[in-house]
Amino acid sequence: MGNLNKLENSVQYLKGVGPKKAKLLNKIGIKTIEDLMYYFPRSYEDRRTLKKVSTLENGEKASLRVIVCGVPRKYKPRRNMRITKIPAKDETGVLYLTWFNQDYIINSINIGDIISVNGRVKKIGNQIEMQNPIYEKYNETSKKTGRIIPIYQLTEKLSNNELTKIIEQALETYTDYTVDIIPKSIIDELELCSFSEAIKNIHFPKDRISYKKAKERLVFEELLLLQLGLLIMKKKNIQNNEGIMFSKNDETHKLIELLPYKLTSAQVRVFKEIARDMESPKQMNRLVQGDVGSGKTIIAVLSMLKAYNSGYQSVMMAPTEILAAQHYENVKSLLDKFNINCQLLTSNITGKKKMEILRGIENGEIDIVIGTHAVLQEKVSFHKLGLAITDEQHRFGVRQRATLSLKGTNPDILVMTATPIPRTLALILYGDLEVSIIDELPAGRKKIKTYVVNSQMKDRVYSFIREQINKGRQAYIVCPLVEESDSINAQSANELYEILKSNEFRNLSLGLLHGQMKAGEKDSIMSKFKNGEIDILVSTTVIEVGVNVPNANIMLIENAERFGLAQLHQLRGRVGRGNYQSYCILVNESKSKISKERMHIMEKTNDGFVIAEKDLQIRGPGDFFGTRQHGLPELKIANLFSDINTLKIAQSIAFRILEEDPSLARDENKMMRERILKLFNKESQLISFN
Ligand code: ADP
Ligand code: MG
Repeated sequence: MGNLNKLENSVQYLKGVGPKKAKLLNKIGIKTIEDLMYYFPRSYEDRRTLKKVSTLENGEKASLRVIVCGVPRKYKPRRNMRITKIPAKDETGVLYLTWFNQDYIINSINIGDIISVNGRVKKIGNQIEMQNPIYEKYNETSKKTGRIIPIYQLTEKLSNNELTKIIEQALETYTDYTVDIIPKSIIDELELCSFSEAIKNIHFPKDRISYKKAKERLVFEELLLLQLGLLIMKKKNIQNNEGIMFSKNDETHKLIELLPYKLTSAQVRVFKEIARDMESPKQMNRLVQGDVGSGKTIIAVLSMLKAYNSGYQSVMMAPTEILAAQHYENVKSLLDKFNINCQLLTSNITGKKKMEILRGIENGEIDIVIGTHAVLQEKVSFHKLGLAITDEQHRFGVRQRATLSLKGTNPDILVMTATPIPRTLALILYGDLEVSIIDELPAGRKKIKTYVVNSQMKDRVYSFIREQINKGRQAYIVCPLVEESDSINAQSANELYEILKSNEFRNLSLGLLHGQMKAGEKDSIMSKFKNGEIDILVSTTVIEVGVNVPNANIMLIENAERFGLAQLHQLRGRVGRGNYQSYCILVNESKSKISKERMHIMEKTNDGFVIAEKDLQIRGPGDFFGTRQHGLPELKIANLFSDINTLKIAQSIAFRILEEDPSLARDENKMMRERILKLFNKESQLISFN
């Protein structure tokens, strides 16, 4: 135990890390020695092979060992640009090392110095140059060159070299204090390397094989802990399977007849599955998955009507106020003929109105509650809750789903999501849920035409938007995603809004929508957009989920390369909801090959599943079905897509461990138990052992 605690030492204890550096490290989430160890490289650069000057090729990145053979010279080709140029050579030729605006170099390199350099080669005439190379004086313990160099995700003012040194020092001092938390029997069974070996080799691999071994070990550990945690959580969540038996007699057929459209056969099938669950004496735990626009809302409404017909209350929780308000309007009008008391509850409903609603929920006067997170508050207490629905489940944590269901006595649970999770993965992440899939879009929908453009084509795009608006349509313009900061995004939306309002679209009616606005303002903008008073809605990604305005047929997304593909797909799903041909225009400002490839996928397909898989392939581990979205620990090295085989192995081993030792109390499992508690309870208490 004492040893483990050492790893919780602050990084400030390391030599060369003062308060300033520590602050920088904190910025990238590193507080302790252990955090440092788990800060894995994003990629590597192989600087093992040294080249000779005569074999250098234009444009290549190379490492060499050279001797400085002349005096440094300084140029000033333009204002604000100073070049330092130093000749160096090996036995095959001369190489000019050049640095821009780094005057200190002149004083740190002398004639006769042997230095190792790494950088990009540029041939100019018959001169060979290396521009802005990384260099170090050659000695036995050279660190920056001559080996495989880890490349880390950095922050301003912290260089890769500095971070590398810090990590190296941490490993030298603390690797001896690390222990294997996985039981030895499992390590032997799977022929994994030891933890200390893995951690050393993931940062500083000697070669490809040692890197692979290290990665295998760390991926397995991460996935094993994830699986153990999930299984423990699930057992707690669904101990009691007894539920409400709703009556077969209901008015849902009446509602279906009243609809202005015919349900798709996928909707009919999915509602049948739900009705069967609701009528059974077991508690329903069902996930409805359907791409954007597949018509999930009506399924929720039918289910709530069914609950009402048996004398039970329902609650439906949505991730944003805009969406909750929209659902509320929608549900109210759909159920108009049924004498149902339906109310909206968000954190903006306060004072007397809120008191009234809380009372109505408690005494049973209110039949259906639609709301945001606000419905989870302790004060919200139901008279007789029979059905709890979570819309856009991917926006909520596992924990919140559980809290909602605790508002009743084993109410039936329905969760809806547009996130297309491959089935294997759904079974792992949502193993406690049955899955229904709406795999069909309503008939008559025209395929959304998607175009990728660059910023030079914007004038044409704007005039196209004006044309469409003249024909009576409406448009969304989504501003660039700045970062995970609502206030900066709001600001950029505001700027774009002002520019467009006074230039390209000065004769049209524009609206602005972002997350920092008051709920009342948001509602009023949204309803103006809905009833056509606003032609163009300039917005941040607050409109990403659920918003439904069938007359809007253009979705223009600025700096589309900054968004995840799944997010682009969600945004695109805001159009194509009516009978008009709809368009999604992606402005790609990036020249990178990966960006182009990603944008091309959006042009080619409208299928959320295909997009999700491609996104994962290209972006690798990251936030897509980022476990964090589910409220689960962040994965630092494993990729749920490419490591699916390891995931399966981890799952079967987790089953076995828990069968023998359900609360991980045995000595060999205790350390895993501790780590799981730490990982899963970071943000909210997901796991407890008793
Ligand atoms: P999502 O699955 O994205 O939540 P919605 O439930 O918002 O989709 O439905 C999108 C639009 O399609 C709504 O305007 C809804 O009224 C309409 N809709 C739903 N089902 C059908 C159907 N079977 N035929 C035609 N339109 C439908
Ligand atoms: Mg929806």
